[in-house]
Amino acid sequence: MPFDIGESRGGTYSEQMAAHSVLQKLGILADAAKYDASCASSGTAKKNSLAGKGIGSTEGMGICHAYAPDGRCISLLKILLTNHCVFDCHYCVNRKSSNVARARFNPQEVVDLTLAFYRRNYIEGLFLSSGIVKNSNHTMEQIVEVARILREEHDFRGYIHLKTIPEADAEIVHQAGLYADRVSINVELPTDSGLTRLAPDKDARQIEGAMGKVRSDLAEAKDARKRFKYAPRFAPAGQSTQMIVGADAATDADIVGKASRLYDNFRLRRVYYSAFSPIPDASAVLPLKRPPLIREHRLYQSDWLMRFYGYKPSEVMQATEADGNLPLDIDPKLAWALKFREAFPVDVNRASKEQLLRVPGLGVKAVAKILASRRHRALRLDDVALLTQSITKVRPFICTVDWRPVMLTDRADLRSLLAPRTEQLELFAA
Ligand code: SF4
Repeated sequence: MPFDIGESRGGTYSEQMAAHSVLQKLGILADAAKYDASCASSGTAKKNSLAGKGIGSTEGMGICHAYAPDGRCISLLKILLTNHCVFDCHYCVNRKSSNVARARFNPQEVVDLTLAFYRRNYIEGLFLSSGIVKNSNHTMEQIVEVARILREEHDFRGYIHLKTIPEADAEIVHQAGLYADRVSINVELPTDSGLTRLAPDKDARQIEGAMGKVRSDLAEAKDARKRFKYAPRFAPAGQSTQMIVGADAATDADIVGKASRLYDNFRLRRVYYSAFSPIPDASAVLPLKRPPLIREHRLYQSDWLMRFYGYKPSEVMQATEADGNLPLDIDPKLAWALKFREAFPVDVNRASKEQLLRVPGLGVKAVAKILASRRHRALRLDDVALLTQSITKVRPFICTVDWRPVMLTDRADLRSLLAPRTEQLELFAA
């Protein structure tokens, strides 16, 4: 029976009971999937219309947001096939020694749920992950089967993101890429020693080997599509990964180094950083406290510096403090500029794009506008002020026809003048 997620509960008693049990499973398996940040929506206030007021909910079971390759924000049904697992990763709520309620969908149930949500316009796609039942190959086959039924039997054209299991045979992972828009393999922890300690069943070489195979499958498929119009697509939205931050002793410098190697070696679309959050029934080897959420935010900012602002990983690492971590009170671009003040001030009317991208407070769009505008006239400080949220942050690092920072760039107290007020920082605190 295709599952009905509608408000009315028609049908026979056994059909109603089956629907009820699917809903219970959905509650468990959508909740279990929330720890995966690869497509997480976060930072929004909890709202719903359960009391009969208003319409909509930010807490819909298992629905999250992701960005499609063309930049659209899309809603995904985000669930696990099962939260049973034969592995025992300490940081995971689904590990075999964890005392949580367990549930398991069969592939057809996930297909029915996806179609039911899709037909009601709740979602535009599916994000499917799973604990490992029986063994890696069996689980991977079940994940692939969901995507196969959706694509082949229902001609489903929505977005599909499949988590793949590095320990599964490469051929089964390859099948996943033939049906999915995006595949991802979690590297889990930034260092091999952290992985050995906290995920004893996993092997860093195997994980990176699986990512390497996906990379070569992506390249081969791209090449084949150039030569043959109807060559099969393989994960056209590429591959991504996730790293857990704060569960082991890895510093931000370790994390930045690892992320940059992953981008270089495997041509990843994204590395996601997930601040470790204490889980129910946590293992004793884990920290008791989560790292401040702003640490995750600073790592995303450093990721952007490498991907869009032309910083080398070694330069981002130069922005870290003596303990190897990025400062929490200021963003990494400002931290770098304060350390390397000899590179400033830059003349906005003459500097190269690369130099302008280093100015704290100037984003990629602002720099493009400066480059376009200065062809027509010399820019003044007020012109730059229109392009930034905070001219105070920009002023020490630039010159214009009517502004020179004189001693401001070298002031000993510049950091405290530019650091955001502490109340704003507290918004990100754990
Ligand atoms: S293999 Fe995945 S689901 Fe299983 S315990 Fe490890 S992280 Fe959790």
